[in-house]
Amino acid sequence: MAGQPEHVLVVGAGLAGLRTTEQLRSAGYQGRISLVGAEIHAPYDRPPLSKQVLTGDWEPERIVLRSLEALDELGVRTYLGLRAVALRPGEIELSDGASLHSDAIVLATGVVARTLPGQPAAACTLRTLDDALALRTTLEKIGSLLVIGGGFIGAEVASAAVARGVAVTVLEAMDVPSGRALGPVLGALAARLMTEGGVDLHTGVRLTGFLDAGERVAVALEDGRTFEADACVVGIGGTPHVDWLADTGIDLGNGIPCDASGRVHGLDGVWAVGDVACWEDAVYGDRHRHEHWTSAGDQATVVARDILGADPPQPTVPYFWSDQFGLKIQLIGRSDLADDVTALHGEGMTGGPLRGTVAGFFAGDRLMAVAGFGAARFVARYRPLVAAGAERATVLETAAALSNR
Ligand SMILES: Cc1cc2nc3c(=O)[nH]c(=O)nc-3n(C[C@H](O)[C@H](O)[C@H](O)COP(=O)(O)OP(=O)(O)OC[C@H]3O[C@@H](n4cnc5c(N)ncnc54)[C@H](O)[C@@H]3O)c2cc1C
Repeated sequence: MAGQPEHVLVVGAGLAGLRTTEQLRSAGYQGRISLVGAEIHAPYDRPPLSKQVLTGDWEPERIVLRSLEALDELGVRTYLGLRAVALRPGEIELSDGASLHSDAIVLATGVVARTLPGQPAAACTLRTLDDALALRTTLEKIGSLLVIGGGFIGAEVASAAVARGVAVTVLEAMDVPSGRALGPVLGALAARLMTEGGVDLHTGVRLTGFLDAGERVAVALEDGRTFEADACVVGIGGTPHVDWLADTGIDLGNGIPCDASGRVHGLDGVWAVGDVACWEDAVYGDRHRHEHWTSAGDQATVVARDILGADPPQPTVPYFWSDQFGLKIQLIGRSDLADDVTALHGEGMTGGPLRGTVAGFFAGDRLMAVAGFGAARFVARYRPLVAAGAERATVLETAAALSNR
């Protein structure tokens, strides 16, 4: 591709796909842009699906990111309700048999909610607006809910259900909820948050399967126990939406492999962004796939500028939040690279109140990540220190100074 492309084709009309189109226009691109999306809805925001939409506080109109009219005004041609089924050089084949040709293709197909073997129709997952509205209707009618998986989405569903007066049981395979992101120490705080919020939480349990329970849902555990409820949500993470790329010959083991500019390895003129994309980390050199709202937008900016040959933006640090049981949990940085967790603020790690607790994740002497429970004003102050991989002494000095204010 010499110079700027004539036509940018974005596959996946979620947050990352939408932001890519917006960033192309704000960087001055005047060529054609097409946006293909499997869902019939205009691009919408997913975080409220397990929060305000589920509690009934927000109606779906409120989560629209950009209406079809506004996309039209932006000069983005939409193909919604259509799935891309094959990728060939410079070409995407759609589920209706048509093909679209383009000299720059951006893959933004997100993830699909993972399900369990033998999962009955009465057990649902939560990824889309349609899923959220169906679950909301269910929550209005039931007295008890089984949540399988205590990660962030499972915990938010549990929180919304408890707020609606539903008795909630959470079954989690790991020893603590959200253990992959928070690690064992802070995961134990997430467990406290859940139980203090009224959830019947069982960790370290292994499911053997679903039982026949008529209109209800029942599961059996390896330890012989069974649990039954009026309804069930399976929240065990997502699988990258890559099945349609099987013929491209690229390694799709953990999403779409990309360099630090989002260029897909082995496919010229193709970029990937958002939950589906496994980017090289410009700082640490490994490959990482973030299922984070802010990463989708940050990557879209990088890709749009790379497509247009503009200078890359300043690097950003990964950030994730989760709202559950009246607290905001926040995580800045790469906790997966740390070997030690040190308390910075609050008393949650010594059995005191969770609110106001902040911890630093260190690899040796360097700060890799910071997490907080109901401590937004502190957490934000550590962003530059995480970005710089600050030394422990500097971090502890900052913590002392902030605590004394
Ligand atoms: C319930 C829920 C709550 C969340 N809460 C938080 C939160 O609190 N904080 C946070 O940081 N992150 C949160 N996230 C994660 C955040 O929403 C995602 O990181 C973000 O939506 C990723 O955007 P994306 O565009 O990569 O993927 P998506 O938003 O999933 O968009 C991908 C789109 O591509 C479409 N698609 C898939 N395959 C094809 C195909 N072959 N052809 C055409 N279209 C296709 C899909 O239908 C989908 O519409 C949450 C996610 C969910 C589901």
